Amino acid sequence: MLDIQILRNDFPILSRTVHDKSLVYFDNAATTQKPQSVVEQIRKAYYDANANVHRGVHFLSQQATEAHENARRAVQQFIHAEHPHEIIFTRGTTEAINLVASSFAEIAFTEGDEVILSAMEHHSNIVPWQLQMARRGIRLRIIPVNELGEMDLDAYHAFFSPRTRLVAVTHVSNVLGTINPVQSMIAEAHAHDVPVLVDGAQAVPHLPVDVQALDADFYAFSAHKVYGPTGIGILYGKEKYLDLLPPYQGGGEMIAAVSFEHTTFNELPYKFEAGTPDYIGSTAFATALDYVSRIGLDSIAEHETDLLRYATDSLSAISGIRIFGQAPHKSAVLSFLLPNIHPYDAGLLLDRFGIAVRTGHHCAQPLMQHLGIEGTVRASFAFYNTKTEIDIFLQALLQVQTILQ
Ligand code: PMP
Repeated sequence: MLDIQILRNDFPILSRTVHDKSLVYFDNAATTQKPQSVVEQIRKAYYDANANVHRGVHFLSQQATEAHENARRAVQQFIHAEHPHEIIFTRGTTEAINLVASSFAEIAFTEGDEVILSAMEHHSNIVPWQLQMARRGIRLRIIPVNELGEMDLDAYHAFFSPRTRLVAVTHVSNVLGTINPVQSMIAEAHAHDVPVLVDGAQAVPHLPVDVQALDADFYAFSAHKVYGPTGIGILYGKEKYLDLLPPYQGGGEMIAAVSFEHTTFNELPYKFEAGTPDYIGSTAFATALDYVSRIGLDSIAEHETDLLRYATDSLSAISGIRIFGQAPHKSAVLSFLLPNIHPYDAGLLLDRFGIAVRTGHHCAQPLMQHLGIEGTVRASFAFYNTKTEIDIFLQALLQVQTILQ
């Protein structure tokens, strides 16, 4: 059992007030709060070991390089990748997906080729592929979502054709919370010789991820959603694919030698890391992963599942509430609508009670169209949330109803 009250002390922001009320932070799917150790690591890295990495012979540069490369190894171990050079540092999930869409397109897409996505994708796993529709004439096949909020696997099965080039699906939905059966979906794609990219932005903070056990070909996630700093994330790619893909951006770091006639590219992972990397952020990223590992993702998942169950039961008592996403295999996200109340109005009033939730389409407008709604209110939990906060939330929602109805 986690001692949540002790763990909450690691997060100074959790004891602040908002509008004179104790903050209840239920917007963790958008970004998580940071433990002191992560912020302290940023301070330490700037004050004690700041020098540009990789090219310097001097002491500080070597120290910074070592810390940055250790961070890469920390990510590798966290997601159980085979090699550190299969971890590419990016600005986040979005950039990682754009990298694959852009580089994979160059070697694999011709007009009429198909990419399979699902109806529950975040815009960052839709728009990069749409750009390729416009540029290379590819087609998208969209796996529908059933009433529980699960992917229709029969439709997925039926989509494979000789034109299928890639599957790109989310591990966990940021709106519905559904934990998708990516391992079996990957096995099916591989039976057709099709590689799979998994958007892990909402999975890595909540469940243990083993990219080798999943047999994922590409896996992307962002540090800021797993208690780490903003502006950094990773793309995991199997060596065999990363070797095949052309660079995404050009610049320093990603080259072996440059002349005006010819440039040879650096080895993995540097081929995909043009420019000065976020070598401060990477070390704080590693600190965050270490922090999460010490708590243990199994314990985190257990506590969050308990919170989700408690919140779902509590909110279900509100007459006429609609909860979106009722998959049995679900992570700690609760999207809902109160009868006759616009989510934006509910969000604004909840804020007056010190409660931070997200309202709107959650960067998943196609899913909203599929559900026939404009948006939802979304409460998303982290391990530092408590049942007491959910009680406060329920009372606030009842007051919101009284005020707005
Ligand atoms: N995919 C999913 C499922 C997400 O929830 C998010 C963030 N909301 C992203 C991708 C994009 O992540 P980032 O903005 O950190 O690149």
